[in-house]
Amino acid sequence: MARYTGPVCRLCRREGEKLFLKGKRCFTEKCAIERKGYPPGMHGNSRRRRRSSEYATQLREKQKVKRIYGVGEKQFRSLFQKAVRVKGVTGENLLISLESRLDNLVYRMGFAASRKSARQLVRHRHVRVNGSTVDVPSYMVGAGQEISVAPKSQGMPLVREAVEYRKGKDTLSWLGVDYDNLTGRVLERPTRADIPLAVQEQLIVELYSK
Ligand code: SF4
Repeated sequence: MARYTGPVCRLCRREGEKLFLKGKRCFTEKCAIERKGYPPGMHGNSRRRRRSSEYATQLREKQKVKRIYGVGEKQFRSLFQKAVRVKGVTGENLLISLESRLDNLVYRMGFAASRKSARQLVRHRHVRVNGSTVDVPSYMVGAGQEISVAPKSQGMPLVREAVEYRKGKDTLSWLGVDYDNLTGRVLERPTRADIPLAVQEQLIVELYSK
């Protein structure tokens, strides 16, 4: 499936909640959910609301998670299949895999304002893992590995603005970040409780198990 390249705020409006896809703007009153908190499209603002079926609820939850992490259907399903094979709770394994993606970690560490711009940084070879350039956004980063912004890229406005915004704010407990040197480390494998994401991953498991 081709990557969605349309207006991302529509995706939040479709899900009826903030998915935080646009960095700083998401925290301002310019956020489309603040201004137009109804679904996009001609009838989005009409009073009629259809009752959601069980399938529709499960589907929406899957779409929401895919959109948050910017992952296509094929990749998402493959992560799910891997999550089934690993010991533990499938839904949690799925979220932990998504959190372990390099683009997500660059965002979580605050080197990019959104996952989309983190993906761009990785693709354009500005990011290193354990000192070596990695340009694959889906690269899985394990506990103990170090992520850094390449020295020549540390002055880029995209990076500087993101870091300025994030500096001084709380970092996730399983990540260690050094904002002076723009390096970070995955201290340990996160658990579900360590992932700040208000989704019901069990619904996705139910959907794929049909
Ligand atoms: Fe979603 Fe951010 Fe757009 Fe608000 S500003 S609708 S949270 S992407």
